[in-house]
Amino acid sequence: MPRPRVYKTEAIVLRQRKLGEADKIVTLYTSHQGKLDAVAKGVRRTKSRLAGHLEPLTLGAYLLAEGRELDIVTQADTVEAFPALRDDLERLSRGLYCAELVERLTPERSEANPVFRLLAETLGYLNSAPEYELVARRFELRLLGELGYRPSLVECAVCGKRLEPEANFWSSDAGGALCPGCADDSLRLAPLSLNALKLLRLMQRAPFEDVARVRVSGALAAELESCLGDYVRYVLEREVRSARFVETLRQTPGRLKDGATPQTP
Ligand SMILES: [Zn+2]
Repeated sequence: MPRPRVYKTEAIVLRQRKLGEADKIVTLYTSHQGKLDAVAKGVRRTKSRLAGHLEPLTLGAYLLAEGRELDIVTQADTVEAFPALRDDLERLSRGLYCAELVERLTPERSEANPVFRLLAETLGYLNSAPEYELVARRFELRLLGELGYRPSLVECAVCGKRLEPEANFWSSDAGGALCPGCADDSLRLAPLSLNALKLLRLMQRAPFEDVARVRVSGALAAELESCLGDYVRYVLEREVRSARFVETLRQTPGRLKDGATPQTP
């Protein structure tokens, strides 16, 4: 039998699930191939040398062997365990949320370096930044941008006119901020304060250090969470619909053939 091809990759563990008696399937976000599932054999045994390096939100260096269906993790070394993030439930829940977004929104095995760097940097801030209130918001905004859903924040998403420094509107369906003139009842809208718009712009273009310096009131944090949360749900629904559509296309030829030549028992 030919030896399986082995490759080395940096990756972040997004999640893991049990397989059989002693194994697990881990979902990795690798630095160059994006998301992939791999089998980790024997990791539920107490003596496993791999187990400690495959906890969710671990950034590690992994050696994988190509398998017939799933690749197999053969070696693992933790590069960054983000220990402070694990010790704090608030930070941990935000980190798991970011990992879940990557898991649900990114395709399997696709060119992935910007998303990998974004997730690694985000976990780093959650681990060490004294102020981390806006880390997950900045992550949502930038992840959606990387996936082709960069919201319009300077010009109105409908008419393209430059947004004035005033109260505007947010519409996930339209893809960002709208001017008052375009705030039509036919769209699902939320009011967008000037402070929220300014902060969204800052998060879109500035490094996290600049964002972390902004003092955010509870009301402003809630406004951002509501706008971006709605946009994330909108994109998730769209992606799920398009994945289902692709699946239907794949299945259609088979279904037509079956219909044309009914089997008699
Ligand atoms: Zn407009």
